[in-house]
Amino acid sequence: MGYDPQPEGSHYIDGAYVDDSAGEVIEVIYPATGEVIAKVHAATPAVVDRALAAAARAQVIWAAMTGRERGRVLVDAARLMRERNRELSELETLDTGKPLQETLVADATSGADALEYFGGLAGSLTGEHIQLGEDWVYTVREALGVCVGIGAWNYPTQIACWKAAPALACGNAMVFKPSETTPLSALKVAEILIEAGAPAGLFNVVQGMGAVGGQLVGDPRVAKVSLTGSAATGRKVYAAAAGEMKHVTMELGGKSPLVVFEDAELENAVSGAINGNFYSSGQVCSNGTRVFVHRAIKEAFLERLTERLKGAVIGDPMDEATSFGPMVSARQMEIVQGFIAQGEAEGARLVYGGKRLERPGFYLEPTVFADVTDGMVIAREEIFGPVMAVLDFEDEDEVIARANDTVYGLSAGVFTRDISRAHRVIGRLQAGSCFVNSYNDAPVEAPFGGVKASGVGRENSKAAIEHYSQLKSVYVRMGDVEAPF
Ligand code: NAD
Repeated sequence: MGYDPQPEGSHYIDGAYVDDSAGEVIEVIYPATGEVIAKVHAATPAVVDRALAAAARAQVIWAAMTGRERGRVLVDAARLMRERNRELSELETLDTGKPLQETLVADATSGADALEYFGGLAGSLTGEHIQLGEDWVYTVREALGVCVGIGAWNYPTQIACWKAAPALACGNAMVFKPSETTPLSALKVAEILIEAGAPAGLFNVVQGMGAVGGQLVGDPRVAKVSLTGSAATGRKVYAAAAGEMKHVTMELGGKSPLVVFEDAELENAVSGAINGNFYSSGQVCSNGTRVFVHRAIKEAFLERLTERLKGAVIGDPMDEATSFGPMVSARQMEIVQGFIAQGEAEGARLVYGGKRLERPGFYLEPTVFADVTDGMVIAREEIFGPVMAVLDFEDEDEVIARANDTVYGLSAGVFTRDISRAHRVIGRLQAGSCFVNSYNDAPVEAPFGGVKASGVGRENSKAAIEHYSQLKSVYVRMGDVEAPF
């Protein structure tokens, strides 16, 4: 470890680190060794209250600034994040166990992309003018107020920024609760925003488990909740928010299909399947974990996939040569081991991996099952680990029906050289974020989010603005007012 990741305080509120040792201790465990590398306290109700009060105060100051002024702060924060990319990436690796090879290019950089993109948009967020004869209506795009962000543990920096950037661009303030498994990185985002000129209290971080999230969601000062997490948590948070008619964005789980037709460029299809199953040790919500491969090329696909998996460099995540790291926690590893055992018991053919590595930390081998059938648990439930299920198919209509036969609808991908087929199939797949001859690209310019049980609303792109602002429409009468009596 290059430096001590212990933060100055557990929470970041009103522009400063704060702590309250009365809160339950949360140990931060480095997944590559199992060592405790830092400790924070869960927020007590008093801490949550302070964070919400600070956010409410800052929001008024922030919303009174011009969009361009707000945008400049976000763009400056993006620059600071890029300048500190290495140090932020090392912290992200300690927090999550993801290899530095990934965190250097996918976490603080992706967060900076969001801050820069929404910073650029902030000055152009306007209402419109609607002429109605001599009368007219104008609309005003207003902030919602205090927003709550709640994060998952797989992309702590990215999730904090994907929520904060559009929220702040629109004139809102935020209280963010990271996952209790990865509490460290969001604190750095808070520090950087202050350094870039954000008013104290604009972006606050409070630590804690689900109960702290629940307290935030239920507070009447909160206008909107954006959650990244599992569908089970999403249902609870959405229901609690609905009770007070709050706005929501729900970025939830998936069991996404990746369809490889017989005319696909095989090497690219294998690359897509690797990216869509083994990046971040498979802990990616949009992963294409049901890989439908046309029967005519199934064995060739499996052979090439197996050869390529032998090239994975599994080891110390801090070594930039490492391309595959540990799972985030012992608990998550055990859940995934349970799914692997279930796949074997259900009669799926284990073609690669399946075992825990004999070394400290929570390492599982990249794992591939073939001959998976639609009813098997490993084909139905989100595993959230490095486990690919390969299913055979023969016919286009058949594969579309099977791909859609899931409660989820986050992502979908198609590999084929036939462009008409690519668009025809994507057109019929029920998913929010789709790929043609690629998998898992998530540029900030494109809307990201799911359909069905995978979520509500969209992050990134201009679409996110609709989820962090509301329109006031103002009718202006130029003549006299007629009344019936
Ligand atoms: P999780 O649902 O267990 O927890 C998510 C967050 O919600 C955590 O911060 C947790 O403390 C909080 N929480 C739990 N109960 C709560 C409650 N009752 N009220 C308020 N907050 C509560 O998810 P996880 O295990 O951290 O992450 C994995 C899941 O997240 C997977 O299902 C994955 O697919 C999903 N995910 C989705 C996306 C996406 O953008 N769609 C991205 C990453 C992860």
